[in-house]
Amino acid sequence: MNFEVDSHAHFMRQAIALAREAADCGEVPVGAVVVKDGGVIGRGRNSPLLSLDPTAHAEIQALREAAQALGNYRLEGCTLYVTLEPCTMCGGALLHARVDQVVYGAAEPKTGAAGSVLNVFGYPEINHQTQVIRGVLADECAALMAEFFQQRRKEKKAQEPHPLKDWALRNSNECFSNLPDWQWLPQWRSDLPALQGLRMAVVDEGAQNAPLTWLCVHGSPAWGYAFRQMLPQFLAAGHRVVVPDLPGFGRSDQPKKESRHSAQWHVQILRELVQALDLRNVVICAQADGGRLALAAAQADEARFLGSWLIDVWPLAEQPAVRRELFEQAARKPGWDVARAIQGQAASADEARAWNAPFAQSGHRAALKAWPRVQSELPDIPAQLLMRWAGAGKLCLQGPESCQAAWLRAVPQLSESVQIWRQTQHASLVPVTDRGGAAAAVEYFAP
Ligand SMILES: [Zn+2]
Repeated sequence: MNFEVDSHAHFMRQAIALAREAADCGEVPVGAVVVKDGGVIGRGRNSPLLSLDPTAHAEIQALREAAQALGNYRLEGCTLYVTLEPCTMCGGALLHARVDQVVYGAAEPKTGAAGSVLNVFGYPEINHQTQVIRGVLADECAALMAEFFQQRRKEKKAQEPHPLKDWALRNSNECFSNLPDWQWLPQWRSDLPALQGLRMAVVDEGAQNAPLTWLCVHGSPAWGYAFRQMLPQFLAAGHRVVVPDLPGFGRSDQPKKESRHSAQWHVQILRELVQALDLRNVVICAQADGGRLALAAAQADEARFLGSWLIDVWPLAEQPAVRRELFEQAARKPGWDVARAIQGQAASADEARAWNAPFAQSGHRAALKAWPRVQSELPDIPAQLLMRWAGAGKLCLQGPESCQAAWLRAVPQLSESVQIWRQTQHASLVPVTDRGGAAAAVEYFAP
């Protein structure tokens, strides 16, 4: 019996490999093998799209190959393994071919003809009887389908048109192409109510059911590129990463009027994004004012969040004068060099291009103009939430000493359990966090 179970799994794995080949060709991933006397004599993978043939299901292909191999259109003594429950056509073909046994993986509730919708093998009046064995490596086979359709929905969503609102501006994608360490294509979203039709760029990588999701939120004047060194580390740990570019920044649409920007608006967008993606077990990974926005979003929906890594995030009114002055300059001076403010002299030519791209054209600086006011509107620090995270070992503050001291003044109880990561460099607006920092965070926040 064990031998039989093992051999069913053994041949199903071969069918799964064929299903993967189908997926690689853009076909729905179904694979099948025909086995006789312990050997595979026919293989098939689903290919109706490429072959322009509605009958080119994996089972049919495998039956054809097996019949050729045997030199007989009747496949007596054969077992067909298929990753998905056969449809009526394939069920009929299996009966005509007089296959002894069909073994399938995942059930197909919409078109399955081996018991799900109907059962073509369940008529004793038909002279040939084919035995059905269900559910071999069912989870693996079902995951293959789920993954395929998830990917297809993602691609479809990326192609949906998002017309540009007449009160907004858009940068061309070319401005952001070929940036080093940044191969991430965003999903475009305009469906969140708070966006009012603006197109927002959201990088969403990793499995939806990952044990941990990093919500990476940039501050002004950065965008998702600020997290370029962290993404590969988070993904390598098997986590999901969601990186929005806030409207007005990065690759997202930019309202023409600075009055469209408010702290409350950005918080609402983050809240709606977290809900729309149904993010759970979220750890905030945030930089500068993005941290304050993300904390407010977390406070409104606490159950979804596990903790926070705050990089150069400052409590209200504690931000050093030099930073406030930088934001005021950005608001006033039309030629303010964004890259220089973000990374100083350290920026490479590519990095400078990445930081300046969102604001390269005149009229594209409403967010920068609005930011001093947006900063003044930032909501209060959620002290209770921070204390709870710190108590659970899920709060990490990274920044210069003065930043950490400011936090401990704002929430003195944090001193007992918060994790502190020192960062001496604070002249620039976006501290470059290296891969090592991300690896330490993966370890610290591990579920
Ligand atoms: Zn079929």
